Amino acid sequence: AKGAGRNRFSYFTPALQVAALNRMRLTNDLRSAIKGEQLKLYFQPIVDLKTGRVRKAEALLRWQHPQRGLVSPLEFIPLAESSGLIVDIGQWVFNESIRWVQRWRDVVDPDFQVSLNQSPVEFQREGGNYDVWLRALRQLGVPGQAIVVEITEGLLLDASTMVTDKLLQLRDGGIQVALDDFGTGYSSLSYLNKFDIDYLKIDRSFVSNLAPDSSDMALSEAIIVMAHKLGLHVIAEGVETAQQRDLLAAAGCDYAQGYLFDRPLPVEEFDALLTAQAGA
Ligand code: C2E
Ligand code: CA
Ligand code: CA
Ligand code: CA
Repeated sequence: AKGAGRNRFSYFTPALQVAALNRMRLTNDLRSAIKGEQLKLYFQPIVDLKTGRVRKAEALLRWQHPQRGLVSPLEFIPLAESSGLIVDIGQWVFNESIRWVQRWRDVVDPDFQVSLNQSPVEFQREGGNYDVWLRALRQLGVPGQAIVVEITEGLLLDASTMVTDKLLQLRDGGIQVALDDFGTGYSSLSYLNKFDIDYLKIDRSFVSNLAPDSSDMALSEAIIVMAHKLGLHVIAEGVETAQQRDLLAAAGCDYAQGYLFDRPLPVEEFDALLTAQAGA
């Protein structure tokens, strides 16, 4: 048994061991981060391209690690998924978001929406459904329409009955659905008909290459026309320049988000921005 153990050990290079150990440590830290208030919710404005007003916001998670500083969600969401912590984290994001969106609908805009990311693992978690969310909304008196759930195409690609049931459950509760990162995956237009989707988010990779008469411009225009014919609204992600904004607006794109308007902001800052807009 000792020999076998040694053999098994030899499969791993020291570098892999270090990486694995690192992941383990970070996962443990994440567990205490949830309790220790190291998670912060940032909000990035989503602007109505016709009026320039902020009508929605995407909630984006940040982790202020006591030693490592700010850890990117691209790094810790996968750990949260593999450890199962994603369920608690997603619930925390939801709870924070509905309190804020209630205030923003009261004070700023009765149609204000907050958009929440749901990773495939989170969405498909077994046994879990969105009962807790719908109950919390009812208790606070916040309508489902205040929330948009962002999912990615991959989820629809191999849509099981579990996926369709959960989509229906959200929809029955009034919650809207956005297809995130549109155009990067196996984009099949048939999804858009098959599932009830409210928003398409054009991925940043298209937006950053937008130029008059470019192929990405042609693609974006086609996506916008098609989405509108199917009754969906379009949000462009990663808008960084005035030219990109103007090209998108001319193509009929409904909403945009990106550094041109604002980076994701700590919630207090975002709240100040919104209430200033409402007062003006
Ligand atoms: P995403 O859903 O595609 O979010 C958009 C990302 O683009 C965000 O990165 C945002 O900060 C960034 N971004 C926005 N505007 C611009 C721009 O003009 N230029 C550039 N270069 N980037 C821009 P972030 O905040 O680092 O989040 C990364 C990913 O982590 C998100 O991608 C999402 O998939 C995931 N994520 C973030 N928060 C959550 C969460 O609460 N739950 C889950 N499940 N995933 C989350
Ligand atoms: Ca998103
Ligand atoms: Ca996205
Ligand atoms: Ca993305």
